[in-house]
Amino acid sequence: MKVTPTEIDPQEKPPVVTDVSAKEVSEVKDSRYTSLDEELPSRFSFYSFQSLGIRPFTLMELKKLFRAHTSSNFKDIVDVIGATIDRNVYDLTVGDFWFLMYWQRINSYKKSPMTVPWTCEANDHVLAVELDRLLPETLKNTVTVNKTTIRVVDFDIQAVADFTARIREEYGVDLFPGTIRDVVAMVKLADKVEPDDDWIAKYATNISPDHGATIQERMKFLENMSQREDINAIDFIYEIEQFVKIAEHGVRESITSKCKECDAEREVPLTLDAHSFFPSL
Ligand SMILES: [Zn+2]
Repeated sequence: MKVTPTEIDPQEKPPVVTDVSAKEVSEVKDSRYTSLDEELPSRFSFYSFQSLGIRPFTLMELKKLFRAHTSSNFKDIVDVIGATIDRNVYDLTVGDFWFLMYWQRINSYKKSPMTVPWTCEANDHVLAVELDRLLPETLKNTVTVNKTTIRVVDFDIQAVADFTARIREEYGVDLFPGTIRDVVAMVKLADKVEPDDDWIAKYATNISPDHGATIQERMKFLENMSQREDINAIDFIYEIEQFVKIAEHGVRESITSKCKECDAEREVPLTLDAHSFFPSL
């Protein structure tokens, strides 16, 4: 592998947990913190902790976000989000991380809510405009992203538990959804790896850190697996694909909106670009 462990930021390394009970103790939160215990999309299925508190950004953090926006450095955004929660942001799944991004967008920028424009395409409405019965402007709508419009992708916790148990039994491997630690590592690796490494990295992110703390170690683990005669590595790749599907969670990438003129419903897509996600004040 072309990247040596010394190039990895200590914060991004998985914490060495010697005493699990110590990790479950929540830090003292001040009154600014809101508990997301009931709302986190993963419902804590993949963590050793069962609670998470978050507070809105401070002015200094907005400044850091502005810097991250101009430098297009994803890790800077991750670190700012990390400063606002009482858990290690690098341990979170990608789905949970995006939920926190939306939480901050809604709760830290109350004076400038995120709005998404869309155009009604309902046949009757479009026809009425074509026949000059309604003005073309009536087709234009906007929807505001707020806590009542965003929806979470739900998953079957028991099905995921059963699936991972079967994989553990058949292949001796623990599966785990990709974490933010992996995403940051992959962004860093992106210009250093060959396309085929990139392909294997995608699967390595869904293998438990127990099989290798870094993404590179888990890529090596997968490569070694493909050499084994007792395992069908191609079947295993299909199993990972299946796991990704059933364990998917996070914020839905669209919101439902109704046309203000004709009441027709439309799924309006949300753009998930971390670098332009927060307004630059
Ligand atoms: Zn309409």
